[in-house]
Amino acid sequence: MIYIKPSFYDDFKCIASKCTDNCCIGWEIDVDEKAIDKYNSVQGEFGDEIRRKIITSPDGSRCFGLDENDRCPFLNDKNLCRIIINCGEDALCHICKNHPRFYEWFPGVTECGLGLSCEEVSRILLSDTNRLIFTETNDGEKINLDSKEDTVISDNYIFISGLREVFYDILFDDGKSYYEKLEKIILRAQNFCGEELPLKSNKELIESYKRTEPIDDNWTCYIDDLLLNFESYAKKREEFKEKFKNDKLYPKILAYIFYRHLSKSAFDGGVMERICFCLEGVKFIELCDMKTYCRKNKLTLEDRIENLKNWSKQVEYSEENTDYLIYE
Ligand code: SF4
Repeated sequence: MIYIKPSFYDDFKCIASKCTDNCCIGWEIDVDEKAIDKYNSVQGEFGDEIRRKIITSPDGSRCFGLDENDRCPFLNDKNLCRIIINCGEDALCHICKNHPRFYEWFPGVTECGLGLSCEEVSRILLSDTNRLIFTETNDGEKINLDSKEDTVISDNYIFISGLREVFYDILFDDGKSYYEKLEKIILRAQNFCGEELPLKSNKELIESYKRTEPIDDNWTCYIDDLLLNFESYAKKREEFKEKFKNDKLYPKILAYIFYRHLSKSAFDGGVMERICFCLEGVKFIELCDMKTYCRKNKLTLEDRIENLKNWSKQVEYSEENTDYLIYE
């Protein structure tokens, strides 16, 4: 089995109490059966508390019931996890242990990554403008393409990862502006797909994001403002484009979005739909940055990390929203 991961994958460390956001707030955390077995053997008052706070959600899955402030009940006032403090890191359930890591499994290949909904991951990605590097390791396990379906997926995967490499080469070509790179990618994609990409206009794009399921009320206010004031933000569009035409972070963001989403077309053949989703994703992030720029007359790295993280939380961490934006 081959494992592919971005070069920064192994260096990631949760910044815990220093995180301004915290993934233990606002999300219901599913508790897997293995963890439940472990928690059943925790003795004393703390063991009783864990068992009491595992609830069954309407879909039948078991999770930690959030407190009245939408926080995980095991997050202390310093935003540290009491399960780790009391029982050690090994006691964490699968999601807590793995977040923000993600995996995608193809026949013979596992792609690994770190999700941008974590502000530390967004910070790491945007901390330099270097080309994304991916490392490959092989554990020697023999690959068996037993079924016809596996063979088709494997062939598709090889084909699509080749296309992704072409996109990376364009995105990290220092001789071109960001907008020239986008045009080149669109041309390449159109050649590949044999038809024009049905990309949305900026306004249509915001409207389609408005139709996604909001993660919270802040998102609803944010997108409403973006729509309501779109014309006034759009007046600064040319100034913004001029200022960021040689930006190296948007190409890097797009490359990372391609990494996470494009190869999934190996399963369903939706290459064109996913290319549009990725291009529109970075365009949406750029529109959010433009909104910040219009409001503050500047755009800091911290602003960009915040906008990128919020996009990821709203889109990448809701399968329903991702599917809606790909296939609507
Ligand atoms: S969002 Fe990232 S840095 Fe913040 S608590 Fe979660 S894993 Fe740690």
